[in-house]
Amino acid sequence: MKIGIDCDDVLLNYAQALVDYRNRTSSHHIKLSALNEYDLQRYLRFSTPEAYAKFLESFERSKEFKDMPVMKGSSEYISLLFEKEYELEVITSRRPPHIRKTISRLHNEFPGYFSRINFTHLNSDPTPKVRICKDRGIQIIIDDNPTIIQRCTNAGVIGIIFDRPWNRGQKYNHLPRTNTWFNIDSLISNLIYSACKKD
Ligand SMILES: [Mg+2]
Repeated sequence: MKIGIDCDDVLLNYAQALVDYRNRTSSHHIKLSALNEYDLQRYLRFSTPEAYAKFLESFERSKEFKDMPVMKGSSEYISLLFEKEYELEVITSRRPPHIRKTISRLHNEFPGYFSRINFTHLNSDPTPKVRICKDRGIQIIIDDNPTIIQRCTNAGVIGIIFDRPWNRGQKYNHLPRTNTWFNIDSLISNLIYSACKKD
């Protein structure tokens, strides 16, 4: 069985690195736990999209971006899922300038565990993650973006929301969720069992 796994905020702690960089380079003291929506421009207190875009460019050259921490438990549990013979693929919306760095970082942190790294933005017309799941025969997806999980679920893919402060809220309560890598294995087993019972 194939599992598609998001990179940022599922395998690597992108948001923490971004907040750390913002706090180091400004007078703000922003806490990741308060990031309760996707509007990072507003949350990081930039008044214009241009100022935010400039900030992102400098963040992507920073030590915080380069040394972005892995999500707690991810190395251990990716290894466990691999040993259980799940086929693991990454699905990420990281942009072309970061493709080489992303491949190298994931290979270093998770050596040999991913059979493929799928990039949604290889072309000017991005490929939705749900399309990648369907094309690649991916049956389970783990992502922190609830919209992606909802779309994949609607298309018959088993979706798991990786809990982050911005994806909480009642409207997502019906979707399977994990707040840690440590129970991912049992959650996946339960979801597969439920899906088989429905068939
Ligand atoms: Mg993500």
